Amino acid sequence: MGTQQQTKAFHNLIGREWMPSSSGETFTVINPADTRIELGVCQQSNEADVEAAVEAAKQSLPGWSAEAAPIRGQYIAKAASLIEERTDEFIKQLIIEVGKSYADAKAEVIRTVRVMRFLAGEAERLKGETIPSWDKEVIGYTKREPVGVVGLITPWNVPLAIAAWKIATALTCGCTVVFKPSSQTPLVSLQLVKAYQEVNLPAGVLNFVTGPGSTVGNAIATHPDIKAISFTGSNKIGLAINQLVARRGARFQAEMGGKNPFVVLNDADLTLAVEHVIAGGFGESGQRCTATSRVIVLPGIAEEFITLLKERVGRMKVGNPLDEGTDMGPVIDKGSMESILSYIEIGKKENGQLVTGGSRLTEGDYAHGYFIAPTVFRGITPEMTIAQEEIFGPVISVMEANDFEQALEWANQVEYGLSSTIYTNDMEKAMRFVNGIEAGFTHVNMPSTYSEPHFPFGGIKATGIGGMREVGSTAIDFYTEYKTVYMKPHNQP
Ligand code: NAD
Repeated sequence: MGTQQQTKAFHNLIGREWMPSSSGETFTVINPADTRIELGVCQQSNEADVEAAVEAAKQSLPGWSAEAAPIRGQYIAKAASLIEERTDEFIKQLIIEVGKSYADAKAEVIRTVRVMRFLAGEAERLKGETIPSWDKEVIGYTKREPVGVVGLITPWNVPLAIAAWKIATALTCGCTVVFKPSSQTPLVSLQLVKAYQEVNLPAGVLNFVTGPGSTVGNAIATHPDIKAISFTGSNKIGLAINQLVARRGARFQAEMGGKNPFVVLNDADLTLAVEHVIAGGFGESGQRCTATSRVIVLPGIAEEFITLLKERVGRMKVGNPLDEGTDMGPVIDKGSMESILSYIEIGKKENGQLVTGGSRLTEGDYAHGYFIAPTVFRGITPEMTIAQEEIFGPVISVMEANDFEQALEWANQVEYGLSSTIYTNDMEKAMRFVNGIEAGFTHVNMPSTYSEPHFPFGGIKATGIGGMREVGSTAIDFYTEYKTVYMKPHNQP
């Protein structure tokens, strides 16, 4: 690897063939911790490549959808086992391609294997229902059928687990797939697709096309033979795709940004709360939809909490995640770095007080990567830009509310509604928070990033479109249609 050597080229998977883009153009994937390192060259695909992928998916649909569902599940379970066997390789790829710390990369691989196993099992639970009829001779029931060819579009920040759960749900339900990963991190997604090929998933069931969202993503969104599109990414892109998909009446599911609150009441264990704020706010350099971005504290503990937080941030090791003991790696690319730094400037201009961090790290080992110091602001109030907009970087805003009621009000005072947390032993207030918080999921005394594969995942308000959750037992709803059957066992009067 590196500029001196030939960088390895990777292809699209269309039907059973790994092939270059019809344009012959490519793009290069680099390591965000050291931009001199080229990780791979991928295909800069276009509409013709999407067309070929859709054709392959259409061809394979009759066979795959007619396969016994538990057999479909077996392919997913076998691919999960392959990934588990290769845990170390996947961890390394997530570290060098996404910039995750070892712990965060390992957590993503474990989550991937668990989610695939759960969704493999869903193939045995694709249930309909039997319904009593007004006519005693009628047998009435519903059955689930796959929606058809689906398009899957994924973000760069969780390139293994999110791709894994969208693909596994589609396959379990009998759909065939055209999958477009993010151009920032396509290689780990490609390794996932390869695992399916190694377990002999029938050709054409899973097709993989890399390239820009504006051409490949757009072609998926507008293709008349793609019956449903599951998207995870930014609000800007999700809303734009929604317009395109709605125009042709296809199904659309979007999981988008977050601005997740973490409320700390006066009785909280502050050491534990600080640990979980750090894990949620600076894990994966704050580049998670579920990241803790607003910490809302009460006056009784504000000073002590901020002192402890500052001290704990001071002990964090920021660096190349390949180096042992690194807590936080780089951000993904130059554009993201500049956007995060501009939010830090806005925070300062709006009179936020910088507690720690606030700048790019450029000295020594940091010189060739996109590193930003873990940053904490205090004195942030709900109307400020950095309390409202998703920064998607290592920036935590501490907000000092007067009481529990105001903390809950502030927690809800954003357009997003993904994750949330409260720290307290006061169960009455915890329950008021659980019932009052406007979020797709919530936590009591746990980090905002915590989730499990067999629980529904997704957001409300501006975070989600489509109203259907991913993973958990509800995931199959998006990928299936109900057919209602009325049947008489004989055709005599
Ligand atoms: P993004 O919206 O820039 O890109 C997401 C995907 O859409 C990529 O594959 C991209 O190539 C594609 N795309 C871009 N333009 C397109 C177009 N015009 N038509 C079709 N597809 C297009 O998002 P990102 O930067 O990759 O990811 C970060 C965002 O994702 C953050 O906002 C984060 O909160 C969100 N996210 C949400 C969840 C969730 O479950 N709610 C999970 C992870 C990330």
